[in-house]
Amino acid sequence: MSHSAPSRPRPSVGRVVHYLSHGTPVRDDGTQAFPAQCRAATVTEVDEDDPTRVGLLVHNPTGNFFHPLAAGGSSQDEAKQQPGSWHWPEVV
Ligand SMILES: [Zn+2]
Repeated sequence: MSHSAPSRPRPSVGRVVHYLSHGTPVRDDGTQAFPAQCRAATVTEVDEDDPTRVGLLVHNPTGNFFHPLAAGGSSQDEAKQQPGSWHWPEVV
């Protein structure tokens, strides 16, 4: 197993993180109608063997959806390169 060590505290149930949404497919010219975006998400469960993998309740502006461990969960990616991953909210 290879994943970078979390640079922030471990996630725990009830914490709010960001989920990187899936944008629309990249066109031939490299543009996207809708790029990936940060969405608020509540941690619903944490993988005991890999605490960087969590289940999420993702809060979209027009509705919520569940992303449970049983369906693969969401892995931490602080670089925000992988749609479907989560990261700690940016400090603004
Ligand atoms: Zn974010």
